Amino acid sequence: MKEIILLKAGEIALKGLNRSTFEDRLVKNCKFRLKGIGSFKFTRAQSTMVAEPMDESIDMDDAVDALKTVFGFAGLSQACVVEKELAAIQQAAADYLGEDLRRARTFKVEAKRADKAFPLKSPEICTEVGGYLLSRFPHLQVDVHNPDMTVYVEVRDHAAFVRGPQMPGAGGMPVGSSGKALLLISGGIDSPVAGYMMAKRGLEIEAIHFAAPPYTSEHAKQKVIALCQETGRYAGRIKLHVVGFTKVQEEIRDKCPEEYFTIIMRRYMMKIAERLAQQNGCGALITGESVAQVASQTLYAIGCTDVACQLPVLRPVIGMDKNEIVAVSRRIGTFETSILPYEDCCTVFTPRHPRTKPRLHQVLAAEQALDEEALIAQAMENIETIVTYPQQW
Ligand code: ATP
Ligand code: MG
Repeated sequence: MKEIILLKAGEIALKGLNRSTFEDRLVKNCKFRLKGIGSFKFTRAQSTMVAEPMDESIDMDDAVDALKTVFGFAGLSQACVVEKELAAIQQAAADYLGEDLRRARTFKVEAKRADKAFPLKSPEICTEVGGYLLSRFPHLQVDVHNPDMTVYVEVRDHAAFVRGPQMPGAGGMPVGSSGKALLLISGGIDSPVAGYMMAKRGLEIEAIHFAAPPYTSEHAKQKVIALCQETGRYAGRIKLHVVGFTKVQEEIRDKCPEEYFTIIMRRYMMKIAERLAQQNGCGALITGESVAQVASQTLYAIGCTDVACQLPVLRPVIGMDKNEIVAVSRRIGTFETSILPYEDCCTVFTPRHPRTKPRLHQVLAAEQALDEEALIAQAMENIETIVTYPQQW
């Protein structure tokens, strides 16, 4: 039995003249995501896309799992393709969906006839297929209002599709269709979630991580690489820049008042990230900040960090509770890696009493002792770039 995957467009279905640009991107992203699974042909019909496997050995369940992580689809379903003849459609419905129908107590059939030359109208298709299924599965009853199982029949130009219910897609916009942004990724729980959320809005994600060897270890770096790969299940390929940040941190520790250490360090992260973003065509920075979570995320601290750069700073988890962020992190599969116990550069020289209400003029005064240009230049020369690829489920 020939199987295909039907993909229902999400928000891009609402786009106007530029819709095909979004669809092209979506197809490209699907093909990239299916690379390890097999080759597929994509065709578009109104708000649905059809993915047809190019060889029979392809595992369709794996393909569906992969496509569930591609942003841009509201829903997806596996369907079988049959000839446009009533008997073939009836037979296929019983065989292809038999397992689900045996488990259900009630069902209904919904039919759509795109090919108006097909001799039966939609309600007649429902009656004929429904009647046949009742004869094959005598335990079933028809319930048109609240059935356990709905059998969908679509008669199209070249063939008919028979399928069960649709599964939810990943939603959002195709990655890359909204431009590119630079994610400040720590080893924690919040920043991968922030990256996932902005990738969902169609941003291609590039990442920057500040490491402070020898205070932070190789393990900590490997953890961030793993987080990029895991976030990549949704966001795709992520280019990660690991910045050697030790010198900057040591200078701040040696020359600035201890209580301002964290806020000044975070301002330097923003400045360096902005430089890198501009060099790499990123139109915004992304962080995993959430108001009031820690001392560096009070409104005062965020205010001081925010003015350190000109680029817009996207903070998608800003209003989320930690448990809400954790729930997303578990769902997208980054949580287990995030809680591995490796140190982050932020925790290396943590002040005993960080300022929770820093005022910008005080911070600027405290920063005077630093040679900003030299420090930034030094960090920019200390960048290792690693291209990470999505980890398969
Ligand atoms: P996370 O769970 O993402 O680590 P957090 O709760 O630990 O966040 P902070 O350590 O204050 O919070 O960091 C706030 C944000 O700053 C992070 O979400 C991340 O975007 C950025 N950040 C922190 N440390 C680093 C780092 N070492 N490299 C790059 N970005 C960082
Ligand atoms: Mg952190």
